[in-house]
Amino acid sequence: MIRRKSKIQLSITALLLPVIVLSMVSSFFLFKEVSTLKSDKSKVDQILFMRQYEYELLRTNNAFSEAYPIPQTINSRADFDKWFNVLWSRVQSIHLGKIGKIIIKEGFNAVDAKKSIETIDSILYTKEAKTPQQLMRVRNQFNQLTSASHAFQQVRDALYQETQLNKQNTIYNYYRNSFFLSSLALILGLTVLFFLYRNNNKLLNMQAKLEERVSKRTQALREKNQLLNKEIQERYIVEQALVKSQQETELAKEQAIQQLNYDPLTQLASRILFSDRFNQSLIRARRERTKVALLFLDLDRFKYINDTLGHSTGDSLLKNCAIRINRCLRAGDTAARFGGDEFAVILPEISGINHIEQVSQRILHELSLPMELSGQQINISASIGISIFPEDGNDDETLTRKADIAMYKAKEQGKNRFQFFTEQMETESNRRRHLENALQLAVKDQDFNLVYQPIIESNTGKIIAVEALIRWQDQQGEQIPPSLFIPLAEEQGLIIKIGDWVLKTACQQASQWQQMGLDIVMSINLSYKQFQRNDIFNTIYTTLADTGLEPQRLSIEITESLLMVDDIKIKQQLELIKNLGVCLSIDDFGTGYSSLSYLNRFPIHTLKIDKSFIQDLAINSENSDLVKGILSLAESLNLKVIAEGVENQRQADCLLANNCQYFQGFLYSKPLEAKAFEQFMLSESPFFLNAPASVENHSSL
Ligand code: C2E
Ligand code: MG
Ligand code: MG
Repeated sequence: MIRRKSKIQLSITALLLPVIVLSMVSSFFLFKEVSTLKSDKSKVDQILFMRQYEYELLRTNNAFSEAYPIPQTINSRADFDKWFNVLWSRVQSIHLGKIGKIIIKEGFNAVDAKKSIETIDSILYTKEAKTPQQLMRVRNQFNQLTSASHAFQQVRDALYQETQLNKQNTIYNYYRNSFFLSSLALILGLTVLFFLYRNNNKLLNMQAKLEERVSKRTQALREKNQLLNKEIQERYIVEQALVKSQQETELAKEQAIQQLNYDPLTQLASRILFSDRFNQSLIRARRERTKVALLFLDLDRFKYINDTLGHSTGDSLLKNCAIRINRCLRAGDTAARFGGDEFAVILPEISGINHIEQVSQRILHELSLPMELSGQQINISASIGISIFPEDGNDDETLTRKADIAMYKAKEQGKNRFQFFTEQMETESNRRRHLENALQLAVKDQDFNLVYQPIIESNTGKIIAVEALIRWQDQQGEQIPPSLFIPLAEEQGLIIKIGDWVLKTACQQASQWQQMGLDIVMSINLSYKQFQRNDIFNTIYTTLADTGLEPQRLSIEITESLLMVDDIKIKQQLELIKNLGVCLSIDDFGTGYSSLSYLNRFPIHTLKIDKSFIQDLAINSENSDLVKGILSLAESLNLKVIAEGVENQRQADCLLANNCQYFQGFLYSKPLEAKAFEQFMLSESPFFLNAPASVENHSSL
């Protein structure tokens, strides 16, 4: 709207300007015309000049009349002369003066006038007497002069009047135009003023609004500014925090590098640093044609300690081991920890096999020294696998793999020893890998079965219990011994599924035998891993309920390592199992730990003496002392004892002589299939090992 009005205003102003200009032009011309009126002094001078001329002509003429032919008075002639002279001068001045020139220009015939004067002069101013003709002629000359003057004046006055009229018309026109244009300019000016006034009002309104908006905007800007300031402050704080975090990041980076290169627990080299140093050693050995040995070390039974004594004790043990390993090394050797209980040692520039054997032996010795951790004395050992550059490989990967294989072999061969890598081991290692895969498949397909080995009561010669032992025949039909695949299953976490299957199958079988009227207890091996889940009681309880087996007819075999730690949860589970009526036996008793304090803490019924003590019982007096000791300890603690692995009569006799109550071994029966065991049970008469002294209720075994 305003824009439209502004356009109109502009158009009007644009119109106004030429109007004013035109009006001024018109006024200019009017002024010019009027000024001609004012400044026409020459005309007045002309008129006056001509009037004076006429007057002088008239007086001269009159003076002539009075002086000629007869002078009226004495002075008439003089008077005439005076006036004639004046006239003479006037006519002369017409030719010579300024006004005269204008008059001549306007058509006054000065030549004739002069001729007339000269004629008069020539007639009058001679000495001869003047004739009337001459006087007449003079009079005529005067009359001519007068007529010429009149004619000139008439013509000139007419002209003058015409000019004046034209001038008036022109002035009128200019005046009218000026008036019209001025009026128009006035109207236009007023219109512009009106619009200006209105626009001004609007502009003032707009200005007020604008000012209000500006003030609001300023306020908003101020607020924004404050916000910005606040933000800047906050940013500054954030920036500070960033700087701090950057510093922390730098520190963390350094720590990360440190952690990357060094094992945070033991401060030994990490796998990365190890790999770097190993490669450096190999490069140098290649150049200098020397040998490098790699020792791969794994603590024996560390998992048991860690799981049972707790992780912090496990950590302390690892730190301690690291210190001990380092003690056995030279300055240029590198010890590293690969995680868990795996260590590696690089021995560069070795002088010979002896050198490696000495270092390995020293490490084994150092590690085997008892450790005092968490108030307990702990005995640990390690198994070391050794590979040598360049004999066993050219690169770190191959050498590490081969040392690892050798280490496994050392473990297999009874642990607490070192073993050099041989090509034969690689084949075995491959077999182990193959076994791992096959085991996974077997667990998936439940490809196992159970065999049962009787336990005989020495007094009665009766089979009072049976131990369920798992069997696995792989896809190629090869029997894989449990001592091989159970630790593997424990490592891989498969033992839970296997254990559940064993428990269920054995309980079902025992329940069947219970229904058949066979009075025996089913003894089942449980892995320590099954206790770590804290639901073993529920599993046993549900299995018993599902199979209908009486709890008194179930016995579970656990290893010493499970009881080594004062773990309240394990204790609770064992208490619950015991309260259910299930028997608890310690399997492989004597192979584990020196401390026997756990026997008091846990609800144990039976000890199963490990077969390693039984095997050379008759020949090894140390072992027979140990067995005797176990038997008397069991007696004092009111525990039952089963001797495992009784293979010959000599062993049986020896055990009988020491009042061992229960026997298990090939002497009586190998583990049998369920059906074979049933027939064996039903057909066999009691094993009379000795004269039965008393008959005990065996259901508590
Ligand atoms: P274990 O529980 O101590 O079982 C006794 C082992 O000694 C059995 O070996 C048995 O066949 C063997 N044996 C019995 N009498 C004699 C004998 O007179 N002479 C000799 N040399 N050996 C005898 P097996 O069946 O190979 O089992 C080995 C180990 O595997 C078992 O030792 C047990 O720790 C574990 N195991 C077996 N079955 C299971 C199972 O179902 N679950 C768990 N967790 N472990 C099992
Ligand atoms: Mg057993
Ligand atoms: Mg055993």
